[in-house]
Amino acid sequence: MTDGAARAIELYGDHERMAEAWKHLTSRDPARFWTSGQWMTERTGGSDVGDSQTVARAVPGQPGLFTLHGDKWFTSATTAQMALTLARIEGAIEGSHGLSLFYLELRDESGRLQGIRVNRLKDKLGTRALPTAELTLDGTPARLVGGELHGVRKIASLFNITRIYNACTAISYMRRGLALARDYAGKRRAFGKLLAEHPLHLETLAALEIELEAAMQLTFRCVELLGKDETGEASAEESATLRMLTPLLKLYTARQSVAAASEILESFGGAGYVEDTGLPYLLRDAQVLAIWEGTTNVLSLDALRAIEKEQAFGPFLADIHARLAAVDRPELAASVKRVREAARKIEAYLPAAVSEGLAFVEAGARSFAYSLARTYAGALLCEHASWSLAHDHDARALVTAERWCAGDLAPLLEADEDHRTASRALALDEVLPAGKAAPERNRRSA
Ligand SMILES: Cc1cc2nc3c(=O)[nH]c(=O)nc-3n(C[C@H](O)[C@H](O)[C@H](O)COP(=O)(O)OP(=O)(O)OC[C@H]3O[C@@H](n4cnc5c(N)ncnc54)[C@H](O)[C@@H]3O)c2cc1C
Repeated sequence: MTDGAARAIELYGDHERMAEAWKHLTSRDPARFWTSGQWMTERTGGSDVGDSQTVARAVPGQPGLFTLHGDKWFTSATTAQMALTLARIEGAIEGSHGLSLFYLELRDESGRLQGIRVNRLKDKLGTRALPTAELTLDGTPARLVGGELHGVRKIASLFNITRIYNACTAISYMRRGLALARDYAGKRRAFGKLLAEHPLHLETLAALEIELEAAMQLTFRCVELLGKDETGEASAEESATLRMLTPLLKLYTARQSVAAASEILESFGGAGYVEDTGLPYLLRDAQVLAIWEGTTNVLSLDALRAIEKEQAFGPFLADIHARLAAVDRPELAASVKRVREAARKIEAYLPAAVSEGLAFVEAGARSFAYSLARTYAGALLCEHASWSLAHDHDARALVTAERWCAGDLAPLLEADEDHRTASRALALDEVLPAGKAAPERNRRSA
């Protein structure tokens, strides 16, 4: 959040206090360094921030200065020196467009909280080293950032960065857990031999390594694009690809890390479940990665927004083909072919889905997002394997690409009306009249 706040201030900061804060946020001197919170979520919602109730009242005679009044329901890093937050200036329009972005410092010069009441610290499943509080803002002084309205669009410059950090955290948990599991496999004996000598256990660890490698490739491609974008070196197509990839990366790696953490705990048997091994935190902490900074569904819909509002689909698909064009090793031909086929399938799916209507597109959004992430990861793994074969004298990257691409890269969902009717009955435990149950053909695109 600190890094994201620095970026938001870089883009929209328009007051000397913010310029000063930016220096603190980017300082490497522990004595000067500040952290930042990001206060968006209210009781009414974290996904649906448009309904936020916090009100901003202008301080007479002081342009840009307001006081904030309302409740913030989830605020992490409550120990931060500053926060960026959303509020509706009195009289502004309803909905997310009516929200403005504000900068505030939590404490005054004597160290007292400025019109902020900490009602409670959340009693959380994980991330226990990080305080997350429920706050009441009761006259908190705050400065408008970047003018009135469109605060969500402005704060997106912050949370698009936290989403990438989220992915970095996801892979770090996967990597740490796998390193521990590997080590354990070389020490723990079962049925007369080490776990590392049991073929089935090795399959489990190998599958984890493939997930980790795919997640790493996705993450660092996104980091590369972010770096180019931040330094003004990205082409319009690269910026569009970054916009598209960011929600996909966040949602996909978060889900991978939850699944991986669960598998890693299991690979320790009972020891993985007891606190004295220090392992359960991996699962507890990983779980939040799929919730904060946008849930899987909310990010799947955000990926659709990137396509609709920012025409990011074309550049994204073109980037898949560009990655594949760099692959020049015959060993990878079959994998490259599978990625190309998946990309074509995805390309054909979208216009057909749109013509079926919004409900079809929304119901299929998660499968669509997974398909994009899996296919893009396939292209990156092939590209990396091609490079690795030429440089590393190690075929692991080749095998990783082959195994990844042999899976279902594009598990798209044909969510037609029959399908949705049946899903509703299953989801809400309602009777599905026999006549309404169309034969459950294979609804995934052939
Ligand atoms: C430990 C922790 C720390 C946090 N720290 C902060 C913080 O510092 N600052 C901050 O602002 N927030 C913070 N949050 C809040 C977090 O960002 C939100 O909880 C999250 O965005 C989800 O919002 P919500 O709780 O309103 O869930 P809801 O939006 O109510 O989601 C409930 C379910 O509905 C689904 N859903 C919602 N909308 C749709 C839709 N349109 N289509 C399909 N499915 C949908 C979601 O995917 C989810 O499965 C924190 C949360 C946690 C757990």
